[in-house]
Amino acid sequence: CGVFGIYGHEQAVALTYYGLVALQHRGQEAAGITSTDGSHMFSHKGLGLLTDVFKSGELEQLKGHAAIGHVRYSTAGSNTIQNAQPIALSTHARNFAIAHNGNLVNARWLRIQLEQEGSLFQTTADTEVIAHLIAKAGVDDLTEAVILAANRIEGGFAFLILSDDELIALRDPLGLRPMVLGKLNDAYIVASESCALETVGATLIRDIEPGELIRITSAGLTSTRFAERRQRRMCTFEHVYFARPDSDVDGWNVHSVRKRLGKLLAERHPADGDIVIGVPDSSVSAAAGYAEASRLPLEMGLIKNKYIARTFIQPSQALRDTGVRLKLNAVRSIVEGKRVVLIDDSIVRGTTSRRIVRLLRGAGATQVHVRISSPPYVSPCHYGIDTAKEDELIAAKHSIEEIRDLIEADSLEFLTVDELMAGFNFAQGDPVPFCNACFTRRYPTELVDQGLNEEIE
Ligand code: 5GP
Ligand code: SF4
Ligand code: MG
Repeated sequence: CGVFGIYGHEQAVALTYYGLVALQHRGQEAAGITSTDGSHMFSHKGLGLLTDVFKSGELEQLKGHAAIGHVRYSTAGSNTIQNAQPIALSTHARNFAIAHNGNLVNARWLRIQLEQEGSLFQTTADTEVIAHLIAKAGVDDLTEAVILAANRIEGGFAFLILSDDELIALRDPLGLRPMVLGKLNDAYIVASESCALETVGATLIRDIEPGELIRITSAGLTSTRFAERRQRRMCTFEHVYFARPDSDVDGWNVHSVRKRLGKLLAERHPADGDIVIGVPDSSVSAAAGYAEASRLPLEMGLIKNKYIARTFIQPSQALRDTGVRLKLNAVRSIVEGKRVVLIDDSIVRGTTSRRIVRLLRGAGATQVHVRISSPPYVSPCHYGIDTAKEDELIAAKHSIEEIRDLIEADSLEFLTVDELMAGFNFAQGDPVPFCNACFTRRYPTELVDQGLNEEIE
């Protein structure tokens, strides 16, 4: 998911909307904005893209100098309007709204406790668990309540809370999910990625620290540490696939990281090819790095139609059989008679790779050598990146040679985890400041709910 929040600007609502547009790649299933004018809160949310949710004057109904917004990618909970965010809640002391990016590993466990204590849940999202923990914290001060709640949850989380007089932002103690702080004139902004700051003309101040809570009021900004300092475990998959290439995440520019990964791929996993093609859009940077290091020409051999949204009606099987290809085309005049080195950022289920290998061969490629700028994705993410269940992950049950065969490639190689880490220039010998659990099965937290499932079964 993506979150954006701003405090202290006349155009808070419009800027939130534009900030969220820049974060649309982080979630296309639902969107929403909550604002405040200091005494009332205004809210609108719905299913679909921002342009679907705010299309007939809804934005103009939201007023105020502060706002938070959300674009949703369902990780926990199904894609229903009840699960759209921000989620509003009230306590005896106040109203507040929450917008959350991430996934808790103990949400089910906490929810069972909360229900036993009488909480009623309206949604299936773990965000509501956080909201109830805050509402039930038993203290009047909102920041104190948020800190108490933040210390009961475990997992990957970066969330924003808006009340009538304050905006609170925090990031989980391991720094699994990203969050940045920026400034636009006198207004402070918090967002999942720095590209949203650029979009609204704000400047990046810094990344929010793992375990840090930021509170913004009319008196300015204060920073508190809500959890003890732990080893940083930023999600590498943000760099590999999820984040936008123009964003800087924890000090690393995403495009530059991807390009370095492409170079490493060329150096350590070379292929005999004539041209290099990246799968658009997320592999374009890695393909550029691969081409530069291998001195092979980078070609636009695959063209993606930008206007196919996820909700677009797919052609029927009968139409597909006639060759209707909406999303991706291979360019015959570029690939015909060529040995293609195909660069992709990841293989999750394996269906995309096989389709593209077939497309390239259909357009006349003589060989297709697939190179992946990350290691085999062997285990599901529990921290907010919704890839697939374990039994859908092709690398969870197949060797690299079996995957090569299944995707019908002439050869297939991946980066190793060590090579992936070499794409980030942190000091050798330092503890690895990243989560790589989907590549290594070594999760940086306990998986509380998973234990619970096993107990129930
Ligand atoms: P698959 O192997 O599942 O068919 O697809 C892998 C492709 O999907 C890669 O090109 C990668 O860019 C993209 N991808 C990787 N992770 C995700 C994800 O979490 N969601 C979506 N929609 N695409 C992903
Ligand atoms: Fe990121 Fe993978 Fe860790 Fe999930 S398991 S947080 S996708 S590195
Ligand atoms: Mg892709």
